[in-house]
Amino acid sequence: MLRRALGFLVLVSLLLIPAIGFAATAASPVKAKPVVKPAVTPKVLAASTAPAKATAAGAGQLTQFRWASHIDAITGASSLRLVFDASGPVSVDSSVIATPTPRLVVTVKGATPGQLKNSVAFDGKIADNVNISADGQNTRITIETPLMVEDGDYKVFTLRQDPANNKPFRVVVDINKPVPPMVFNYTPGLQNKTIVIDPGHGGTDPGAVGPGKTTEKAVNLAISLKVKALLEKAGAKVVLTRTGDSDVYGPNASAVNELKARATVGNARKADLFLSVHANSFGNPTVGGTATYYYQKTPYDAMLARAIQANMAPAGGLQDRGVSAANFYVIKQTIMPAVLVETAFISNPDEEKLLNDPVFQQKIAQGIVQGMENFFAQAARKGGER
Ligand SMILES: [Zn+2]
Repeated sequence: MLRRALGFLVLVSLLLIPAIGFAATAASPVKAKPVVKPAVTPKVLAASTAPAKATAAGAGQLTQFRWASHIDAITGASSLRLVFDASGPVSVDSSVIATPTPRLVVTVKGATPGQLKNSVAFDGKIADNVNISADGQNTRITIETPLMVEDGDYKVFTLRQDPANNKPFRVVVDINKPVPPMVFNYTPGLQNKTIVIDPGHGGTDPGAVGPGKTTEKAVNLAISLKVKALLEKAGAKVVLTRTGDSDVYGPNASAVNELKARATVGNARKADLFLSVHANSFGNPTVGGTATYYYQKTPYDAMLARAIQANMAPAGGLQDRGVSAANFYVIKQTIMPAVLVETAFISNPDEEKLLNDPVFQQKIAQGIVQGMENFFAQAARKGGER
């Protein structure tokens, strides 16, 4: 609650910055230079012919792109404001896309990109890149972000022309990045790392059940215990969300309470990594393979997912179904890099047998642990949080 309130204050202070001052401060916090030279004066934009042109069925254009970033000295939260000037009235639509990489897509209706440059590189703190392209009579603005943007983290709105103050029609995109709850400075190796393993389901929740009546909760725990043993051998500190056939929150709990209890184990320990182990299930019994899911809420989730999948899939020898973004509770609500692995399909009779086979379980566990080791090496080279 506190963080949201402070975020709002930052937003208000930015709103008060006059447009001209804003353009002047734009160059310093980001690598890129303003796209359109200030020579395109607001005077021209405010000319009385411009709005008349635009009202003639979407003949408007974007005329300038400016931006400013701000770091709150007290909270450390940062924000980025993008402002697009338009020659006439426009409306906006926006949506967040998670896959294959997070991005905020804004459609400006009633204006083409005009002479705006089609791609601007940013410093990667809030945005990596802003791409501007024509979409019929509209403009599509794609803001590539290093982290997943939540609904509450951004605002897209339009401002009307203000001739008295030489202000044109504008589209404003505000993106706020909350203070990260954890700072990561990874070192190579598994020694002394705290890793939380969450064997999916358990107790009153069997998870998926195979054609031969194997329960997902049983094989998830068996694989998790093998991962734990390997990690401990390598010097890691391992915490399991459950060590037996039990619920974590309590018997017959709601799905959210149960999942929250699992994420809380990781968050309370401030673990370096969180791994949730599951087996997949599908109506068609011939479907099979190994997959990893992540939610990019730190700079490391996708990196961790790729490292684990690259080792776990070949170790198990099943179809490599790759890594995908997903907003599953335990990978989204944990504060550290987290993945959810689907080791095999329990609904596939051949893979159900493998899931019960200690040799297969061990191979999968080795692949996961190798993936974690590779991840720490890679994350350490990256040099902490950017
Ligand atoms: Zn499951």
